[in-house]
Amino acid sequence: MCSRPVLAHPDPEKVFYLQTDTSTKGVGAVLTQELDQSKKQRPITYYLATFTPAEENYDIYEKEFLVVLKALEHWRAYLIWTKEPFVIKTDHKNLTYWKELKKLTGRMAGWHEKLQDYNFRIVHIAGKTNGPADALLRMDQEEENKGPKLTLLIPSDVFLNIFEAGDPGTIEDKVVQTQQRYQEVMNKWEKMLSIIRHNKQGGRTAVWTNRMGQLVVPPDNNLKRKILKELYDHWGAGHPGRDETTRQVLHSYLWPLGRAWIAQYIKGCATCQQNKNLTHVTKTPLYKITVPENAPPFTQIAMDLITGLPKSRGHDAILTIVDHGCLQGAIFLPCNTTITEPQIAQLYYKHVYPWFRLPTKVISNRDPQFTSHFGQSLAKELGICWNLSTAFHPQTDRLMERKNQWIEQYLHLVMANNEEWSNLLPLATLVHNNSANSTTRFTPNQLLIRQEPPVTPAQSEGAENPLAEL
Ligand SMILES: [Zn+2]
Repeated sequence: MCSRPVLAHPDPEKVFYLQTDTSTKGVGAVLTQELDQSKKQRPITYYLATFTPAEENYDIYEKEFLVVLKALEHWRAYLIWTKEPFVIKTDHKNLTYWKELKKLTGRMAGWHEKLQDYNFRIVHIAGKTNGPADALLRMDQEEENKGPKLTLLIPSDVFLNIFEAGDPGTIEDKVVQTQQRYQEVMNKWEKMLSIIRHNKQGGRTAVWTNRMGQLVVPPDNNLKRKILKELYDHWGAGHPGRDETTRQVLHSYLWPLGRAWIAQYIKGCATCQQNKNLTHVTKTPLYKITVPENAPPFTQIAMDLITGLPKSRGHDAILTIVDHGCLQGAIFLPCNTTITEPQIAQLYYKHVYPWFRLPTKVISNRDPQFTSHFGQSLAKELGICWNLSTAFHPQTDRLMERKNQWIEQYLHLVMANNEEWSNLLPLATLVHNNSANSTTRFTPNQLLIRQEPPVTPAQSEGAENPLAEL
């Protein structure tokens, strides 16, 4: 394993592109970036992979995949914390192979796990000439038919929707259909903006995206409203506010002058106007709690109850658990106003402990006894001896207050039926943790699970009544 000297200085603010490179001697990879206005990609560094004798026997797809993995590890320092996802470019044959469901062998399962560390997208580039032999492909397929367990080597949402765009009924399809009506504008934009035309369905449909595979939004107000209905009004979105909506929309689309349009749309939202007074003013001074840097998720937590809610499936309260670390993720659980410390400990044991760990510190503005009772009960659940450090804050914790406001507002905005709020809490937890934190600019889920799971199976247009779907 060796690498050539660095050719251009990387810019951490710009997108990295990774491509396997079989044209140099041996099998290798190259990392590039668009470093100036010319949009030309300049190599930052090369990487030459060497294979162990065992790896030499892998088939060509596995080898190419292995090169990508080795390169990722090699360039880990550049790629592990990129603000924007970096782009892995690959040819069509690799793409097809990687996208297939597979029975993951022990080896592949290890690869699969390594990939989870990175935030990337995969795009297709025009095929390389040295495609793998068909015989290899056939042998491989026979091998696959033996095992029962099929897994995606790479989660499907990583692949940009150049190929999926156009599935009927999806909002992406509407964008593509509208692009057809704005061909002239699109052609003009092709010269002005850095966008590419792809031909689909035997050349009958043209699809415009940028290099990152984001669909280009043509200047059609009807379409724009549909996109916002999906990513702002829909119950899976829950009126996330201007900055968060803009972030989500511009994550999926290249939308010229989108920011201003979105801001205007949100300003005119009738639902938000009606609910404006919901954010209640807190009179007591809010207390800001500092947490040591790099505290693992959910080690310093705050807990609070929102009580006296209308009955919903036997519940009338929400237990809000907030991670005080850099993630500020939140979990909302239905419970009752009369809940006791042991019952809270039980909820914690069931819903938080399996994913995270025991908290080292619990912050609460309830009775000072609360935390120690909670700690003792949790220890009892686990059958261990354990002393939880307690922290009593008579003032309301600022972060907690924000989270409580968030959930109350979310429920008000999306709820069609008052009695069903408790059923919306798992969804609310997902929507909350998919929203970017204004200070870190990451969503809690990006850092917790390295992805933002989509709220609905396909990002199709939502039903009018959310509860019909639940
Ligand atoms: Zn709104």
